[in-house]
Amino acid sequence: EIKSLVQVGEYEWEIPRSGQMRVPARIFASRELLEEMDEKVREQLSNVATLPGIVGAALAMPDAHWGYGFPIGGVAAFDPAEGGIISVGGVGYDISCGVRTLLTGLKKEQIEPVLETLIEALFVTIPAGVGSEGKIKLSPTQLDEVLVGGARWAVEKGYGLPEDLDYIEENGSLPGADPACVSMEAKKRQYRQIGTLGSGNHYLEVQYVAQIYDHQVARAFGLAEDDVIISIHCGSRALGHQIATDYLRVLSGASRKYGIPIREKELVCAPIDSPEGQRYYKAMACGVNCALANRQVISHLVREVFAEVVPEANIRVLYDVSHNTCKIEEHEVAGRRRRLYVHRKGSTRAFGPGRPELPQAYRKVGQPVIIGGTMGTCSYILVGTTEGTTKAFGSACHGAGRAMSRHAAKKRWRGSDVIQHLARQGIVVRAKSMRGVAEEAPLAYKDVSKVVEATHLAGLAKKVAMVKPLGVIKG
Ligand code: 5GP
Ligand code: MN
Ligand code: MN
Repeated sequence: EIKSLVQVGEYEWEIPRSGQMRVPARIFASRELLEEMDEKVREQLSNVATLPGIVGAALAMPDAHWGYGFPIGGVAAFDPAEGGIISVGGVGYDISCGVRTLLTGLKKEQIEPVLETLIEALFVTIPAGVGSEGKIKLSPTQLDEVLVGGARWAVEKGYGLPEDLDYIEENGSLPGADPACVSMEAKKRQYRQIGTLGSGNHYLEVQYVAQIYDHQVARAFGLAEDDVIISIHCGSRALGHQIATDYLRVLSGASRKYGIPIREKELVCAPIDSPEGQRYYKAMACGVNCALANRQVISHLVREVFAEVVPEANIRVLYDVSHNTCKIEEHEVAGRRRRLYVHRKGSTRAFGPGRPELPQAYRKVGQPVIIGGTMGTCSYILVGTTEGTTKAFGSACHGAGRAMSRHAAKKRWRGSDVIQHLARQGIVVRAKSMRGVAEEAPLAYKDVSKVVEATHLAGLAKKVAMVKPLGVIKG
């Protein structure tokens, strides 16, 4: 049954509460994006709205589309004090997939003469592709240290600088991780994958700042026009995927045990305060830390490459955001401060000014919100707002969102043609898989500018800068 929508703001639409829904559902989008949005989003949001302990409303961001259980671009907060649940489908398979952006202290002109060399060096140094393995080989106990320590583990091992940690969500390490809750199967898949990029949609992109919208915030972020920056998009690799697979089974049993109706296979869940719910949280936190460690090790490799190719670079972390998580956060709801489990699946945390989670340098302006576009068009950096923190638990979109399935894209384009086309625009692409490149062809994605505009106008996050690609590494 497709629920009808009521427009409640220029960029805000509501599915009123009906049937088993405990709260309404709300979609943030322009009329145009809403019309393009698949109808499954409404159905899935309405399902999420029936889950125990949900607070406020089930939300969808402007880039929302169908996902497993929850829509991608879905946000939902649950209160453990009211029987709130935790769900694998609310986090996604690639736990803590996210983007880290690095500042280089370089201008576009300094990079252009060495661009080919730089991209080649990054390509040979940073392991990418399906099942790619890194130089770091870990013993089982060492891997457990990664799962608890996250980026903090990496810095302690010499991969990066202590100050990097200040600019990572959770300061580089999500508390509550317990490796005992992660299966051997999941761990085995990660021993050799720390510091690897993965495949497909994951990328490392050398970009330049093409346009600034908010000069004051850009200054606080250390961004100026023509600055070269680097964005790393990857997650928890096979480990996160295996944790999700393992806990779908556990939570499926839990849904039955606690009498929570299962409306979709991946919508299974457990009360946060149940043993099953707690075990999933502790395992998921391991997945988050694995992703944070990955992006930290990759950043270290980037530093090594720049030290060789452009030694005048000074690489600093702008920020590191995750867009597949469940996090414990305090939010004020109807005048009351509550401790909630906020699920963001294909949604970036976007805290407004003043939040204690933010690094000192950004606390006055708000959190950097890093949004990927495509390797051929542009990407964006936004800033979180107070409005968005109130309206959407501090959440924003996470990308352009696909306009075409991977399968359809593969049939439509050849990877080598896509690479040549981009080369004519001056964008250097190096990829492990030509098929992967075809799947990620810029035209396979929606227009990121429209998604970002809707996010901006809905007040979820404000535009700070637009960045364009110079070179891309793809798995
Ligand atoms: P996801 O995590 O959902 O797979 O991807 C996040 C977003 O990254 C996508 O929605 C897409 O807009 C963006 N993206 C995918 N490939 C690239 C790329 O090569 N470069 C950039 N800048 N963005 C990309
Ligand atoms: Mn991912
Ligand atoms: Mn991602």
